[in-house]
Amino acid sequence: MRSKLQSLLDEVGLNDPRVDDVSHYILRLSFCQSEDLRRWFLQHECYLFQHRLQELSESQLLACINQYMTNNEQGGGSLKPIRKDEKDRLQESLLQLGGMTPTEFMTTSFYAVPFVQALDLVATRQCYLQGGYAYVPQNKVLSIVVNKFRTQLSHSLALLAGAGTFRSMDDPEAVRVFPMLKNLNQCLVHREPTEGLEASGQHLTASNIDQHVGNMPLCMRLLHKGMTNDHKLRHWGRLQYGLFLKGAGLSMEDALAFFQRHFKSVTGEVFQKQYAYNIRHMYGKEGKRATYTAYSCAKILHGNAPSAGDHHGCPFRHYDADHLSNVLQRLQIGTSADRATIVSLKQSHQYQLACQKHFEIMHPNAVSQKEVNLDNVGNHPNAWFRASMAYHDTKKTSGSLETTTPSKSDVVAVKVSPGAVESM
Ligand code: SF4
Repeated sequence: MRSKLQSLLDEVGLNDPRVDDVSHYILRLSFCQSEDLRRWFLQHECYLFQHRLQELSESQLLACINQYMTNNEQGGGSLKPIRKDEKDRLQESLLQLGGMTPTEFMTTSFYAVPFVQALDLVATRQCYLQGGYAYVPQNKVLSIVVNKFRTQLSHSLALLAGAGTFRSMDDPEAVRVFPMLKNLNQCLVHREPTEGLEASGQHLTASNIDQHVGNMPLCMRLLHKGMTNDHKLRHWGRLQYGLFLKGAGLSMEDALAFFQRHFKSVTGEVFQKQYAYNIRHMYGKEGKRATYTAYSCAKILHGNAPSAGDHHGCPFRHYDADHLSNVLQRLQIGTSADRATIVSLKQSHQYQLACQKHFEIMHPNAVSQKEVNLDNVGNHPNAWFRASMAYHDTKKTSGSLETTTPSKSDVVAVKVSPGAVESM
């Protein structure tokens, strides 16, 4: 992940400190608007900050950390690498930190920091205390600095949110910039390749979508289920599901045929008048002929929340814990412990991790299969679908479904494999 992140930073010019500064402050303005956005921004900025610290050489890291601590601590801070003789003298005590092995101990640098700057580590006994100093391994030093960064950024975002950033519309420049900042966070669309089944030599068509519903992430499975129950989909549901299918390679003609077949509650004439235009619009054949891409998870998570009768949105975010738990049980997803893990991730607002856990449960050992590209699973519904298709394709090719005794989660995987009957 870190090497991919580094090449992405090079690609978009974020290694230029000026660009980095400007983009950071623009994003602060855009992401201070709601608690969910602030949480998302905080989490990703902390990842980025930590990655940048990890990229530094030891001396650069030390200089950087010292400068940061000095600038941010009353009375100044100081962080000293301990000398080899001191490390050897303290070996027995330091070795006990986090159950470090002797080999790890040899290759790890330790630092001494005034204990008041490492109170979290002192409280959780993750450092060795002596003479007013806390002795901490390098990875824990990073966590001290990243925590401090998180606290400061969180405070700044809260101040910014309360400062009425978007309220004054008297200034003409504010009128110009305001809509851009307000909507910037909606543009978090991951660039997803449009291929869906092509990699496995298959094509998504109006007639085979139903067979592949089990390979879809939960949001899309539930949209499909809602559509087959109600024989229609409301506006946001049609957009979310329609663009997902388009992203998975469904042609416009097939999309028209597919939705018409499922919208049984309307006549062919009504369908042509009310819905066919929207579908052609999605494919850029009507209106301003724009190219619309499938929604990313960020867009679904932070977009319009569903109300009664709607089926769009992200179940991990928009369902309450009991409802989500019932849905998972009805779909026979994992064991009760697996389902409890997913619900607890949802309750701690880690919706995308809950989605990744869902994938992991449905696709045992996917991580060890090189044909299965797990990039962006939990970030984009199409990535989830593509990885699931590749997983089942690999299993089919290797014949493992026929030759091994499936585990419980494999049983679920067999149920949702291509060609299988949708188990909902
Ligand atoms: Fe769908 Fe993304 Fe939510 Fe998963 S995290 S259910 S892919 S919106």
